Amino acid sequence: MPKREGSVETVREICIDPQPSGLRAVYLVETRSEEESREIDKLFLELESQIQVRQLCRGKLVSYVVQAHESDASVLDEIEDILKKSYAFVVTQRSFDDLICRIVRELCEDTGSKLSAIPKCNICGKVEPFPNTVVNLSDDDGSVLISRNYCSSCTAEASAPSNKEFIKSLLAADKRDFRKIESAELVRHPSRKQSIRFRVKDFTS
Ligand SMILES: [Zn+2]
Repeated sequence: MPKREGSVETVREICIDPQPSGLRAVYLVETRSEEESREIDKLFLELESQIQVRQLCRGKLVSYVVQAHESDASVLDEIEDILKKSYAFVVTQRSFDDLICRIVRELCEDTGSKLSAIPKCNICGKVEPFPNTVVNLSDDDGSVLISRNYCSSCTAEASAPSNKEFIKSLLAADKRDFRKIESAELVRHPSRKQSIRFRVKDFTS
């Protein structure tokens, strides 16, 4: 993710990355020492090779949200078992929603723990730990200038008959003004894996 958002005028390439969706679970653990907090970080770090992991907060309260493929559902049970065996206060929820976000935020305040930065959908503003669609806008050298995240419902709303119309409808719905790119000519570019790439040509001013 770029440190500072670049300007729309210098964008020469757009890359859409559809992300897999899956089963989600949130784990909240109250720790008694920094060592315990480090142990939990290590456990989730090791899981990153297998499932998607994002830290929600750290400190006395440690919380993570994970997303696993449907076929990896047993991993979610295993994590719960490990945590419940090792720590006194463990709360788990098999989904991610506004309510659990609020609970994490309030418990963070109560325990003096630190909330981690969690991506938000750039259309509806909903907190989205695993965006359904990530759009990266890069310059001529391929460095990412602007990165945008979209949740599954906003992605579904933007569905269009072609990828070109799809990207234009996402950017049109985005809170940031991308009108320059919407009116530019987009040329499909070969790409790796499941990502979809376009060159931006002929900016109309
Ligand atoms: Zn959204």
